[in-house]
Amino acid sequence: MKSILDHLGLTGVLSGAGAGTWLKTSGITIQSLSPINGKTIGQVRCADSSDYEQVVQKAVQAFREWRTVPAPRRGEIVRQIGQALREHKQELGALVSLEVGKILTEGQGEVQEMIDIADFAVGQARMLYGLTMHSERPGHRMYEQWHPLGPVGVISAFNFPVAVWAWNAMIALIAGDTVIWKPSSKAPLSAIAAAEIAFRVLRKNSLPDGILSLLIGGRDDIGETLLADKRLPLISATGSVAMGRRVAVKVAERLGRSLLELGGNNAVIVTAQADLGLAVRAIVFGAVGTAGQRCTTTRRVIAHKDIYPDLRTALIKAYQQITIGNPLKKGILMGPLIDRQAVENMQATLVQVQKQGGKILFGGQVLTGKGFASGTYVTPCICEVPHDLPMLREETFAPILYLISCTDLAEAISFQNDVPQGLSSAIFTRNLLESEAFLGHTGSDCGIANVNIGTSGAEIGGAFGGEKETGGGREAGSDAWRAYMRRQTNTINWSTELPLAQGIRFDIA
Ligand code: NAD
Repeated sequence: MKSILDHLGLTGVLSGAGAGTWLKTSGITIQSLSPINGKTIGQVRCADSSDYEQVVQKAVQAFREWRTVPAPRRGEIVRQIGQALREHKQELGALVSLEVGKILTEGQGEVQEMIDIADFAVGQARMLYGLTMHSERPGHRMYEQWHPLGPVGVISAFNFPVAVWAWNAMIALIAGDTVIWKPSSKAPLSAIAAAEIAFRVLRKNSLPDGILSLLIGGRDDIGETLLADKRLPLISATGSVAMGRRVAVKVAERLGRSLLELGGNNAVIVTAQADLGLAVRAIVFGAVGTAGQRCTTTRRVIAHKDIYPDLRTALIKAYQQITIGNPLKKGILMGPLIDRQAVENMQATLVQVQKQGGKILFGGQVLTGKGFASGTYVTPCICEVPHDLPMLREETFAPILYLISCTDLAEAISFQNDVPQGLSSAIFTRNLLESEAFLGHTGSDCGIANVNIGTSGAEIGGAFGGEKETGGGREAGSDAWRAYMRRQTNTINWSTELPLAQGIRFDIA
């Protein structure tokens, strides 16, 4: 642990506010506890309101300069950040594992995602395209262009403590925005380490403070202040639906924009035509990976009644082979939940599920004894439930998988869509008609719909996000960059006349 922290320069009580250089903060001191063993990894002195003000002023000031740097030049800075992340991938990935408990390969994978989005953004920096239109008036030209938006606030969840920032920040940077990041207080060290890697690149290029900033602090003093701050035209927030409701209202009150990436309740449909071996592998990774703490975690399996018994048996067999323990150790597939509160939430959900008529088929126990003293380890759980179980509508951020039987594809799709969230979905079938029905406009109502791959593990090239209570936001690839810019429509008259649109006449004698 010490060598990881030393490598990343995380020693002593760390500052929870930085804008290229670190401030001497005056807020409360918090501990970062590892869910692996409950021990303190490091300490952070949070930002208070005066630190907040300093950071936001720097971000506002830096925006004035950063927006004038040509976009491909901004892309070059992002390229250097991507390179710096490559150089620190092992250590930053290990720190992510240490701080949030995901297995090492997933911690490294998270940093790889940051590198991927940086690479993507470098290319995108030369492709901030606007359209040209044919004007209805002679001698006129119309086109649109995309301008930098302003300082952007980014709020991130604990479960992707660095990648979510990178999805936002790398794109916002090439768009010409400055970025103020409020990470989860459950993973402050990963945020400080990631920010410092990027700050070094900015300093090396003699860029002003405030292009990238970090503020660690409570939801009331830092989080809510960001939401209400009129200097920030966009707040991009990733987290629970409850948090998103608050963000949407507070930001809308001042007519700001919000980009919301909220909870999921993702289902896999397995039809009678599926390759069951493929389906089982995808479901197990989707449900157990990151200990069920991904927004895209597979929470529901809706299986055709003819293959349901075989699928159930195969899933239970696969779950028996899941190795649980210290996520830094080789061979472990599932680490701890983030904290004891998460374990309690999982237990409370399982009580409810049984009260409502569901049956636990496998797992769900809290592990105790050697290696499990932190009280954060559980066995992943499979429940058999009726399709209308009320708890099915909720996202419990834990490894609970619900199995539901169905009679045909239309019923499977209606079960799948009958939840408030709409993030990720998948179908397993070898039948073209079934997969097309699932992908069609009367099929899955989710932002992500996959065929013969699971619900989690999206690539950065596509736009990521979901519908309904998932919030409607899109981040990462495709044209998600547009959310970070302002669109301007321009009409240029190169004639000597002044014709009005829609044939209106307004002649002055
Ligand atoms: P959370 O909602 O508890 O916290 C997320 C972030 O919001 C934290 O930084 C928190 O401090 C901040 N926050 C909470 N209330 C706030 C307020 N009033 N004002 C400003 N900031 C506030 O979520 P969590 O437990 O950290 O993460 C798990 C949740 O995030 C799950 O629901 C998961 O599905 C969701 N998530 C969604 C995506 C996605 O892309 N859709 C990705 C990752 C996680």
